[in-house]
Amino acid sequence: MRLSRYFLPVLKETPSDAQIASHRLMLRAGMIRQQAAGIYSWLPLGFRVLEKLQRIVHEEQQRAGHIPVLMPTLQPAELWRESGRFDAYGKELLRIRDRHDRDMLYGPTNEEMITDIFRSGVSSYKSLPMTLYHIQWKFRDEVRPRFGVMRGREFLMKDGYNFDLTYEDSMHAYNRHMASYLRTYERMGLKAIPMRADSGPIGGDDTHEFLVLADTGESEVFYDSAVTELTLGDRAVDYDDRAQLEAIKAEWTTPYARTDETHDAALFEQIPEDRRKVGRGIEVGQIFYFGIKYSEPMGAMVADETGAKVPVHMGSHGIGVSRLVGALIEAHHDDKGIKWPEAVAPFGAGIVNLKVGDPDVDAACAQIYAALSAAGVDPLLDDRDERAGQKFATMELIGLPWRITVGPRGLKNGVVELTCRATGESEELSAEAACLKLA
Ligand code: ATP
Ligand code: MG
Ligand code: MG
Ligand code: MG
Repeated sequence: MRLSRYFLPVLKETPSDAQIASHRLMLRAGMIRQQAAGIYSWLPLGFRVLEKLQRIVHEEQQRAGHIPVLMPTLQPAELWRESGRFDAYGKELLRIRDRHDRDMLYGPTNEEMITDIFRSGVSSYKSLPMTLYHIQWKFRDEVRPRFGVMRGREFLMKDGYNFDLTYEDSMHAYNRHMASYLRTYERMGLKAIPMRADSGPIGGDDTHEFLVLADTGESEVFYDSAVTELTLGDRAVDYDDRAQLEAIKAEWTTPYARTDETHDAALFEQIPEDRRKVGRGIEVGQIFYFGIKYSEPMGAMVADETGAKVPVHMGSHGIGVSRLVGALIEAHHDDKGIKWPEAVAPFGAGIVNLKVGDPDVDAACAQIYAALSAAGVDPLLDDRDERAGQKFATMELIGLPWRITVGPRGLKNGVVELTCRATGESEELSAEAACLKLA
């Protein structure tokens, strides 16, 4: 992409109403625009990041054997009357009436609808196990939308639902979600820790929230620092291997890690003092087992091996895709701007042309641009007629992992400058070598 043809409405001033770094930086970098309280448009740069996150989520869900679908944002109230939640959900639920006076709602979650889809298409245990998921906009009329996309009213969520014959099978689905979530966050360049959580209004037994440690997080968390050392790394995960998934869950859930809702001071005291940590975290996902809570009242039954009709065991599992954009920035920024991890950066590299109109510099930039594009790096070329200082500031603000600076003086010596956003280190090398390094 050439910046002269792009839409990147960066702000010079720091927006005064944005309280946390990620919100300020998303506004300043022209990633989002607020349209109403907690409701945002995603501008081109922000949309790119959102799409990268979605791609990672899709890949990891499908690797775990989960099947993508797409349900609507608007739902008929009847389904929610069947589960009893149309009245029980409270003010977070946006209720809408259509022209025929029918009650509708903008989905805050999809347990009822997915259960309806399941019951209409599955009648035998032979179709199980099954996990269906989608990535779709949700609406919750939050009392206090704040911190930009972190607590929006309209937000993008991946929500998946498992259907199983037995409790044991459902626990396997639970563990599959835990491992696939760990991998998902790791791929994004985030450390998210599963913490034992409270089941809240959805109700249920087993549940873990995934939290990114950050001072600006809304949850208070208590944990053994040993849990922060764990990584999946490049170990192969076989999502059909129950024992392996059980072992992964045990590895992550043995060290103490809980939110304030389930915190147990006596247990916490047993951790060696130097490993006992209290902090704050951002909830970026949650997995839930809730058994037959929806299948029973809504009649989602299958015939088991004996032919008897039994309600299916279910769980629901969510990832806060749009919140993750904010969480990633909270975890990766400095006073100049964002520092995107490579896997989620909106562009892989920025090319700064220091002298637009100079034929040699223009040609070198075009060559680097073509080479990086061919290598799949997806560069952003700053070919605007602006001062160097301003171009550097823009690149630092939008946080691309690499910057290649091309100017007449360097070119005379056969070099360009390659700068790493994460470390701030620069080196001079030939244009070819710089491209090779990023490819
Ligand atoms: P919170 O405790 O932050 O209100 P939640 O527990 O109500 O979140 P879930 O029902 O578990 O949310 O939804 C799954 C995920 O969706 C959450 O883990 C979070 O990452 C994301 N999410 C929930 N509410 C919002 C929101 N208002 N804005 C952005 N993301 C959200
Ligand atoms: Mg909530
Ligand atoms: Mg929560
Ligand atoms: Mg939650």
